[in-house]
Amino acid sequence: MDILTWNINGIRASKIPIKELLDSLGADVICLQETKVTRDLLDDAIANIEGYSSYFSYSRKRSGYSGVATYCRDSVAPVRAEEGLTGRIAKASDNGDSVGCYGSHTVFTDEELQSLDSEGRAVMTQHRIRTPEGAVHDVVVINVYCPRADRENKERMSYKLQFYNLLQLRAEALVHEGRHVVIVGDINASHRRIDNCDPGPEFELHPSRQWLDSFLCDGVPKKEPKESETSSKNCKDTEELPASKGKFVDTFRLFHPNREKAFTCWSTMTGARQTNYGTRIDYIFADLDLCSKMIINCDIMPEVEGSDHCPVKARLKCEPVPSEKLPQLSSSNMPEFSGKQMKLMSFFQKLSPSKVALARQAEADKIRDVHKTSQRKVDNTKSGLKRLGNDLSSQQAQKKQKTGTRQQKGSLMNFFVKKKPQKAEVPDSSSPDVQVLDSVSKEEQNTESKYSETASQESQVSASQESHISSEGGPTKDSPPKDQQNTEKKNLTSWKKLFSGPPPPPRCKGHNEPCLLRTVKKPGPNLGRKFFVCSRPEGHKNDPNARCNSFSWVVKTKLLAPN
Ligand code: ZN
Repeated sequence: MDILTWNINGIRASKIPIKELLDSLGADVICLQETKVTRDLLDDAIANIEGYSSYFSYSRKRSGYSGVATYCRDSVAPVRAEEGLTGRIAKASDNGDSVGCYGSHTVFTDEELQSLDSEGRAVMTQHRIRTPEGAVHDVVVINVYCPRADRENKERMSYKLQFYNLLQLRAEALVHEGRHVVIVGDINASHRRIDNCDPGPEFELHPSRQWLDSFLCDGVPKKEPKESETSSKNCKDTEELPASKGKFVDTFRLFHPNREKAFTCWSTMTGARQTNYGTRIDYIFADLDLCSKMIINCDIMPEVEGSDHCPVKARLKCEPVPSEKLPQLSSSNMPEFSGKQMKLMSFFQKLSPSKVALARQAEADKIRDVHKTSQRKVDNTKSGLKRLGNDLSSQQAQKKQKTGTRQQKGSLMNFFVKKKPQKAEVPDSSSPDVQVLDSVSKEEQNTESKYSETASQESQVSASQESHISSEGGPTKDSPPKDQQNTEKKNLTSWKKLFSGPPPPPRCKGHNEPCLLRTVKKPGPNLGRKFFVCSRPEGHKNDPNARCNSFSWVVKTKLLAPN
């Protein structure tokens, strides 16, 4: 039985049907985080997947934010399922088949408990399995998207630590009751120095890491490393730290105790995936007993693109016993996905927003036409509708063609909306404002968790850009005829002769390449100031292909040395 976790950074950005996406990941229980699906956005294409049952948790605070989803192949259909960690949602919905075992909540106030379950960060499924020896066990898979928090934001940091404590409390209560527990997801903290591209001097003092120390256990006899991994080099992580005494095991490190640069998350802002300058913050934790008896492998899947995170997959040596009846939480039990009426509705939902807009425009045109003339109104409407029909079907054909070509390439990265080019672009001297990006201070670089939210914003932008382009029918595909290009070039040259424009960007010290113009977006005394940096992606300071330390402020047209 394979369990996979992936922070997908927006499931609706998938360019292929979810079924194909799930099938391509090759796992029985697929746990996704940061789906950005809230109840209002849940539709047939996401919830109703042939061959799988699905279980969602969504934010009650704002639309399109956070969210986790667990998809279970029919062969591993769960016996129980529950949204949230506190039990409040389950109790409110009066589901008879929630997972239970909540432990004591005395350390939390009522408001805190309510708040901890309100951001769509946890969903769990309980599966029945048979061991090779024939014993039947229950395994609870807890799918979590732990909050991220900047160190300076005390309120958010406190929320994050409370979430960790609640997760631990629940998981340990379940183990105490004799169930096996697997916790998977984006934990938003790297555990050891080896799990972080840039561990600062106070790395171990971070409260998130201290929680991981208390939660995880080093006591499991180390399994044979799968590959030739040197144990002497850079193995500070096990020497310097006291052994953790928790009840759960980081299954990736169990099989790959010394593998370096095994990252699962990279900043899309800095293009750090190219230089593999990232963090390992996505995990599969399993209780000690399950770990020693049934977990036979765990690995990261950095080759899978499409998000700022990559998946992690673990294999359990056991035979699943599927439930005959799906738990109440299954999305197939939601009113809109269970009735026949929904089938008709889902037909309309397949229209993409751009097509809906087109249809609406046609509707408006129709009305206007009707008002305009009386004689030709019928003809107009008819031909207008016919045209719209042709447009839609040709667009659909185009889309199909597109998807077809992409599938042939067979890479997961093609399943998703194309992100903006990762490699920083050289600023065009005629338009110095083209590159307006966040400044990346050293402090920010040290907080691993910054990645998810900044990256999300970026991908949202690119998603809307992409949909805009495709709704226009692909004007970007064809370049203008050569004659036209030449004329444009000539015009450009003559304009440049007339106006000198801004000076070309300075060259960086490390690579002698044109620098990138950026703008400080971080609130503070430098907000809005422009500066030049090396255009290479962020990376380790010894990596010659990574960004060098060239930096200079832009003051009007003069360049000043760094202060
Ligand atoms: Zn450089």
